[in-house]
Amino acid sequence: MCSIIGYKGNLYAAPVLIDSLKKMEYRGYDSVGISTIDDGTMLVRKGVGKVAEVDKHLELNGMPGKTGIGHTRWATHGRVNDINAHPHTDCSGSIAVVHNGIIENYEDLKTELIHKGHSFKSDTDSEVIAHLIEEHYMSNKDVKSVMIETCKRLKGAFAFVSVFENGTLSGARFDEPLIIGIDQNACFISSDVLGFLKYTDKAIFLDNRDIVIVDNSGMQLFDFDGNTVNRHPTEVAWELAAADKGRYAHHTLKEIHEQSKIILKFNNRDTKRLNQFCNSLSDAQSVYITGSGSSYHAALIGKYLMGKYPRIRVECVMSSEFQYVQDLIDNHAVVIAISQSGESADVLQAVKAAKQKGATILSIVNITTSSLARISDCFLEIGCGPEIGVAATKSFTSQLLVLYGIINNLCKDFRFWKDLGSLAESTEATLSIESEIEKISDKIKSFKDMYIMGRALHYPIALEGALKIKELSYIHAEGIAGGELKHGPLAVVDKNTLVFVINPSDSTYGDIISNTHEIKARGATIIGISDVRNNVYDYLIKIPSVDEILYPLVEVIPFQLLAYYLALVSNADPDYPRNLAKSVTVK
Ligand code: GLU
Repeated sequence: MCSIIGYKGNLYAAPVLIDSLKKMEYRGYDSVGISTIDDGTMLVRKGVGKVAEVDKHLELNGMPGKTGIGHTRWATHGRVNDINAHPHTDCSGSIAVVHNGIIENYEDLKTELIHKGHSFKSDTDSEVIAHLIEEHYMSNKDVKSVMIETCKRLKGAFAFVSVFENGTLSGARFDEPLIIGIDQNACFISSDVLGFLKYTDKAIFLDNRDIVIVDNSGMQLFDFDGNTVNRHPTEVAWELAAADKGRYAHHTLKEIHEQSKIILKFNNRDTKRLNQFCNSLSDAQSVYITGSGSSYHAALIGKYLMGKYPRIRVECVMSSEFQYVQDLIDNHAVVIAISQSGESADVLQAVKAAKQKGATILSIVNITTSSLARISDCFLEIGCGPEIGVAATKSFTSQLLVLYGIINNLCKDFRFWKDLGSLAESTEATLSIESEIEKISDKIKSFKDMYIMGRALHYPIALEGALKIKELSYIHAEGIAGGELKHGPLAVVDKNTLVFVINPSDSTYGDIISNTHEIKARGATIIGISDVRNNVYDYLIKIPSVDEILYPLVEVIPFQLLAYYLALVSNADPDYPRNLAKSVTVK
């Protein structure tokens, strides 16, 4: 969840590490720390807050030395405080470690190491790595065998980078990403290519059980058994580096606004790959779509589209629930996994289990070099560029576009859109009512509970809208299927309730109007999201009329903007919601 970075080169390490951590801050951001080696001496500075704040406070930037490691944390074990911030050091203060993931057997290891005389400073699981390395290093100064012995003792998911006082860097991965960036005069070990793309586009993607050592004589790669591994450098796209906010106050707002351009530019660039993807689907005896959070909501829309048009029966399963329903998976099954980052632990776990049972794995990803893309039989790229805001906005829209594109391919005689220009115009028209949405968010900011109701393919948008509001504004919000209202949710409706009804003039319109009257009769405030006016609404957020099947792409936007402005009125940071991280690499 966090970001880790190691640097060894001919520049001062601290400014490079800070720059990299800022680029990867979306991954986790409760505390920050850096350790550098200067002339054989280790320095460590760390504290709670965002990179810029901690840098200002502790003057990270001024730390000397040309080798170092850095970390932004997303706490799993131990409170968010200065001591639990990474890097963690061994007893002697000559080995420092930054870690991403969870060491599941840390309590046993900690007890064992305390018995051996080690003293621990933090409550984290991660600190055991520093002491384990120290324990092995005390009896054997060969870093290669120290790393192998250490990795063999760790259970759980980890990517870590350690630095030794003599300037050696080492790293290892198991079920968490770790990527090496190679420059002529430097080497980077990072959680994400964004950590080094400013300096080099040459990357080596480590596999599970890979270990890397970088010292003055160069770099060596081997596995947990000590066998040398050869991994070839890949060139990664430079445009990923250009992830700045532009004229917008926040990445999230910029990314919301990018959506109409994304629609305009969307086409299925790689037809060969799309054909391969769709052929596997046509041949499947059973099809599952899986994802987490917004990707799961995209999956629900995918299921609806597949059933309605190419008439493919699809099971939609949340990735975290996949392990409980996988008994039916066999080698005739196709699993479509949707993940923006391609590193989500729940998604990867689901996919690995299905792959073991022989299923074909198809994926829809934004990061084509991600673990998910690499273990898939075929993947499609959503191509929306880097999404830094933690809440999915443009990546959700782009996932939907890819799903529509798949249906277009499967139904040869049928197209959802003749030209994407008018769809992009409708999205742009929805974006243009931003100031009106800002005013509405001010009017509704004191509601403690919000409900969003929709039927058919508007129901996944109701879920997605509620997720956006929860994530960004911390207000309780819930998506409801219109027909379910009288089976429970109506009990909580009273004059203190706010209900959004997603109600464009399509086949669901009449039923939603009836449901809305039932809510209105109980005194709730109603906001309609529709292309037509109706007196039952207290407010209307007017969206343009589009083809019935394309409404999700348009109607999701008001919720993204509402969530953004509700965050601002409550002084929350829309880019970095509390307790969340963009790339959820822990279970
Ligand atoms: N489990 C570690 C901790 O809580 C690392 C979490 C992370 O990946 O940021 O410190």
